[in-house]
Amino acid sequence: MPKPFAFKKVSALVLFFSMSMALHAVDKKTSQLIDLEIQRHWDEILKTRRFIHMNPELSNREFETSKLIAAKLMSLGLDVQTEIAKTGVVALLTGDQPGITVGCRADMDALPIQEQTNVLYKSLNPGVMHACGHDIHMSIALGTAMVMSALRDRLGGNIKFIFQPAEEGAPAGEEGGASLMIKEGVLDDPPVRAIFGLHVMPVDVGKIEFSPGAIMASSDHFEITIKGKSSHGARPHEGKDAITLAAQVILGIQTIVSRNLDATDPAVISIGKIEGGIRSNIIADEVRLEGTVRTLSETNRSKIPQLMEDIVKGITFSFGADYAFSYRRGSPPVYNHPQLAKIMIPTLHEVLGEGNVGEINPQMIAEDFSAYCQKIPGFFFFLGAKPPEQKSMAPLHSPLFNPDERSISIGIKVMCYLLFDCLEHQSHIENTS
Ligand SMILES: [Zn+2]
Ligand SMILES: [Zn+2]
Repeated sequence: MPKPFAFKKVSALVLFFSMSMALHAVDKKTSQLIDLEIQRHWDEILKTRRFIHMNPELSNREFETSKLIAAKLMSLGLDVQTEIAKTGVVALLTGDQPGITVGCRADMDALPIQEQTNVLYKSLNPGVMHACGHDIHMSIALGTAMVMSALRDRLGGNIKFIFQPAEEGAPAGEEGGASLMIKEGVLDDPPVRAIFGLHVMPVDVGKIEFSPGAIMASSDHFEITIKGKSSHGARPHEGKDAITLAAQVILGIQTIVSRNLDATDPAVISIGKIEGGIRSNIIADEVRLEGTVRTLSETNRSKIPQLMEDIVKGITFSFGADYAFSYRRGSPPVYNHPQLAKIMIPTLHEVLGEGNVGEINPQMIAEDFSAYCQKIPGFFFFLGAKPPEQKSMAPLHSPLFNPDERSISIGIKVMCYLLFDCLEHQSHIENTS
């Protein structure tokens, strides 16, 4: 059996949840109040979402977004901290009754993409677009803060709203994202005992998808340089052809997943960039390859780099050529804490109806929410953002990506329920460390 990703601190943090999974904090009255508060704030939420969409900012450069979010949170009377991990904003909502603190995280950055949609609130920032839906995520977290602030008299515990920069990756040479937020203490003081996050997806609005256990993959990056020897294209025997070697290396690497790994434990190795050669009649002395490795288990993640290097080494050696190999670990897989997931499933069923909550296979995309999940129990789900009347929608990171805004109110409602129910179960969360 593939070894699942080990929790670090989480292993010491044992969750004892009630045997009764029907324990819900959201009674009929609270449910009505949630709907009412969403309605009451809807115009502002929508206006804010569109403003953020029109003014997207790149990773670690979310300056104006950060100011706007902080101002909105302050106006709710929350305890707000800014400039966490450069442009991050953290706000603490203290419930009227004491209790533990749970986190609600949204990412803030946009992508270097020129928007091609025809929406009225199209990006005004040339070459930058909220094409991954982080504007929707922020609106949901902000809307949740609005609703929960109005209902704080019903809240037994605290909620930390975490607005995180640079989910898409910090610019070269900079730190950023979830790991920097954690480094700067976002999960401490008061300690966050469980964390929730979501991502919009091209599935019907009103539907949610999740997976207990791994839901998204790890994402690592590698670079290979094949070092041959140049010669005349008509006299290849006098050189060492880096292009022929690169071709063999590429095919060799593609046998790792199919021949070396357990077929029941998914992994992907993709080479997305190849560069080399000077001219049609010159044997290339150097070829550079770059790619990504995605895994769901530590077993595969730790095996793959050595398997790759053995192949590169063996092939280049057989030709008397040389190589350089570098492998950089990125985010680990996003791992939904099984017990937390177990307790939250009835909540999801309650909000949206069982038929609208789908359990899916893990996806090989990545998210740096995983950094939080390595420290504390986390729950991450996919929120439908495709208009149901449409057959399909442009995917994430497309210049045509246009999520349905109805997903915002659904996201807020789901998030409120999850937070309320998680706090309701707090007496069963016990730190045994
Ligand atoms: Zn993205
Ligand atoms: Zn994203």
